[in-house]
Amino acid sequence: MFNTIISTRCRFCGKPLQHTFVNLGMQPLCESFLGPEQLDQMEPFYPLHVYVCDNCFLVQLKEYVAPDEIFSEYAYFSSYSTTWLNHAYKYTCKVIDRFGLNKNSQIVEIASNDGYLLQYFTKRGIPVLGVEPAANIAEIANNKGIPTVVKFFGVKTATELAAENKQADLLIGNNVLAQVPDLNGFVEGMQILLKPQGVITMEFPHLMKLIDGNQFDTIYHEHFSYFSYITVEKIFAAHGLTIFDVEELPTHGGSLRIYARHTKNTFEPITHHVKKLRSQEKKNGFTNLNIYFQFAKRVKETKRKLVNYLISLKKENATIVGYGAPGKGNTLLNYCGIGTDFLDYTVDRNPHKQGKFLPGTHIPIYPPEKIDETKPDYLLILPWNIKEEIINQMSHISNWGGRLIVPIPEVECYDPKSGFTLAGPLETIADEAVIANSSPLSTSIIEQQRRK
Ligand SMILES: [Zn+2]
Repeated sequence: MFNTIISTRCRFCGKPLQHTFVNLGMQPLCESFLGPEQLDQMEPFYPLHVYVCDNCFLVQLKEYVAPDEIFSEYAYFSSYSTTWLNHAYKYTCKVIDRFGLNKNSQIVEIASNDGYLLQYFTKRGIPVLGVEPAANIAEIANNKGIPTVVKFFGVKTATELAAENKQADLLIGNNVLAQVPDLNGFVEGMQILLKPQGVITMEFPHLMKLIDGNQFDTIYHEHFSYFSYITVEKIFAAHGLTIFDVEELPTHGGSLRIYARHTKNTFEPITHHVKKLRSQEKKNGFTNLNIYFQFAKRVKETKRKLVNYLISLKKENATIVGYGAPGKGNTLLNYCGIGTDFLDYTVDRNPHKQGKFLPGTHIPIYPPEKIDETKPDYLLILPWNIKEEIINQMSHISNWGGRLIVPIPEVECYDPKSGFTLAGPLETIADEAVIANSSPLSTSIIEQQRRK
């Protein structure tokens, strides 16, 4: 069972948490997809109330749900997104070259999933070890020949692996730092498992991009912390680790890739990227509470806009379905109260999700072929971070006049035929089109949509 004692203190610096960053209400766990037999049963909802620490500016959830509740049967299989695989492949080529990794090196990846990333090192003959808490996913990795141990990572696991001679030349942690309740224990563990001359690389969503891009749907119970560069630098420094380089990546709506080493080993000089990003965040106000407080207002406004837009489409008898069943989609749909009253169904390429239902909203998940069978008027893109990939895959919906809606950062409607993007409720679009009289998406198209 989960721990019912919820700390009200910052998980990094220990100061009391007293400021709300955003409150997304009560929500189910965003990866707890339901089978048909569960639809008539009680479903647990937990608070999705995010705080910001006024001392270290770590944005964080209290530990409402224990990690073993969330991650032991995690439904997310990385290998199904081609965009993500390509990202992983390019990363491996880059670090192999930059750090001269070879058959004598040891790579360790924390939260290695099904081995989607480590496979590219294995193909180059470089020894790897995955550490993955979800047993069902680790089994898939082991079956593919990617050695993977089923463990949560922290000081204990790091000490055990170090004793087994598994200290890392390259220690990787992608999209895991946010998911760690014991942040200090996790970073301390990385320090223990890293060889004296070893390098850590980690990727995690960048708080600056979350705020700039209004990406409130990337907040969910599985993500306990949300990092600015300034805050993550402090956390690493507290554990004897120095970040010597940083890259800004487009993945997950804008991520950071940090490169760290032992502070006492100065073999990698600190690059100008680090200094530039640090001063950019300071200039943008990330060391002042005001920027954090503004975010909540914008989130509420986005909810009203999206719901208004969907209501305007339903008033015109449009059929709307979802595309994708990512965790972020569930935060968005549950916060906005969008259920089967708006979306008839959603689709996902992942066969493990097909035949199931979205948590909270109970929207059914079908294979993508369902869209060609039912020819809906609108697809609401839930994994907006790969919207280009989806728009390419689904451009044929224009054959029946179908269009796509991107909800974040602002609600936009995309017509594959005209390539034109519009925002706002349907009435507003029609009015603006009449006034401007130069829009490629003419009122006659809107009229056609309305006649359907
Ligand atoms: Zn703090």
